Amino acid sequence: MLEVTDLTVAYGPIEAVRSVSFTVQAGTVATLIGPNGAGKSSTLNALSGVAPQRCGRILLEGQDISRWSVHRRVAAGLVQVPEGRLVLAGMSVRENLELGAYRRPRTEVAADLERMEVRFPILRERRNAAAGTLSGGEQQMLAIARGLMARPKLLLLDEPSLGLAPLLVRTVFEIVTELRNSGLTILLVEQNARQALNVSSFGYVIENGKIVIEGPADKLRSDPAIIRTYLGQGV
Ligand code: ATP
Repeated sequence: MLEVTDLTVAYGPIEAVRSVSFTVQAGTVATLIGPNGAGKSSTLNALSGVAPQRCGRILLEGQDISRWSVHRRVAAGLVQVPEGRLVLAGMSVRENLELGAYRRPRTEVAADLERMEVRFPILRERRNAAAGTLSGGEQQMLAIARGLMARPKLLLLDEPSLGLAPLLVRTVFEIVTELRNSGLTILLVEQNARQALNVSSFGYVIENGKIVIEGPADKLRSDPAIIRTYLGQGV
């Protein structure tokens, strides 16, 4: 689905991502883990076209999208759910969902709205509420549902569990699993490395803008260096 080669992202003189290469196979979840400031969000943002790509190549289903505008990438099926949800606080839940589908014919959108409200019942209950009045977990559901309204082929999920209570973290990972099982391809960025690797088939560890370890998720889960640095104790 995605093949990234030698991607460098730079903010002026600061190279946040340095010549990284990775792939995401269709119908799987791949995860990027690493410490704060390692370049994970910059990588996702460059794939979406909102962070400055200095060099490298991004192939989506074999097509080079490196120079495409953001909206053209979205239309091609590359959709990001950004870190911090970024729902439009003053607009209703329904309006936020509709915005996710603003490029699509209205006739299709009604059926998708219905599907989202079935999948995320809280969004039906709070349909007319201002998005800013939702709890953090509810806003995350809304942000994911808004992304799905664009009918993605590849969903980029940036820290979906950030700041959520443990029960909601579990719910978020259940949703990721469901989406994966429905055939969606996902590139996930997560601080919560253990749960991220549990739902992924492949993982990349990024430190200081470089991929330093990569491999099948089950191998990474038993890699002593990863256990020591990212997994720690616990289940
Ligand atoms: P976090 O988990 O904290 O979000 P991250 O791995 O996603 O970390 P990035 O947010 O991609 O890391 O940041 C990588 C580096 O790029 C950091 O040094 C950060 O300060 C810098 N950076 C990110 N965005 C910008 C920007 N818009 N302008 C300048 N520097 C930036």
